[in-house]
Amino acid sequence: MLELTAVVKEYRIGEQVVRALDGVDLRIEAGQFTAVIGPSGSGKSTLLHLLGALDTPDSGSIRFRGAEIGGFTDDAQSEFRRHKVGFVFQFFNLLPTLTAWENVAVPVLLDGGTLRQAKPRAMELLDRVGLAQRADHRPAQLSGGQMQRVAVARALIMDPPLVLADEPTGNLDSKTGTAVLELLGEICGDDRAVVMVTHDMGAMKYCDRAITLQDGSIRADAATHVEMTSR
Ligand code: ADP
Ligand code: MG
Repeated sequence: MLELTAVVKEYRIGEQVVRALDGVDLRIEAGQFTAVIGPSGSGKSTLLHLLGALDTPDSGSIRFRGAEIGGFTDDAQSEFRRHKVGFVFQFFNLLPTLTAWENVAVPVLLDGGTLRQAKPRAMELLDRVGLAQRADHRPAQLSGGQMQRVAVARALIMDPPLVLADEPTGNLDSKTGTAVLELLGEICGDDRAVVMVTHDMGAMKYCDRAITLQDGSIRADAATHVEMTSR
């Protein structure tokens, strides 16, 4: 689905250049739940941003289903972000004045749709993440785990083939974190790829594959041990 070749990304602050990604080669396949691990500063978030076309590489190529993302116009890139990618963040990024179902509907609004059009699908997704009873609650009335499940539902409303999650369990206790990991594993079915940055080694068992970054390079790329009973 995604193919990265010799991807380099540098940040310049004044005179100083930080090479955040240093020649990354990587293929991400549909139906795969991939964990990206590695020490702080190793380039994990940078990689995720490039996969989601939130940023572009300085050199190298990123292809989505054969098309070079870097070659897209700005419009095509934002179209790619809106329709092909769902984002899940560590701090949930829900809008506090909107209810749970309205938050789930936000990507439809950003795409020119109406709340009314989005509501049936938003309610269906809230049901899928186990929050049908909380549809009219605002974020402040939800627990962290519930907020993250709302965020996962929001990531799915455009039915994107790719879901990117940056430390989605970073603010959750281990029990609610587990529920979110199980949910991410579940939505990985069909034609979807899920790529998750995590510090949580316990999250590995929910993933199919773990990529270890160090100093902007891939140090290891391995299938994770999957206990058949846990999936
Ligand atoms: P990780 O997510 O693994 O902690 P990042 O991808 O955030 O790592 O960062 C990789 C490197 O790039 C770090 O050295 C970081 O300081 C630097 N970096 C990341 N984003 C920026 C930015 N916007 N401006 C300058 N340097 C950055
Ligand atoms: Mg990071």
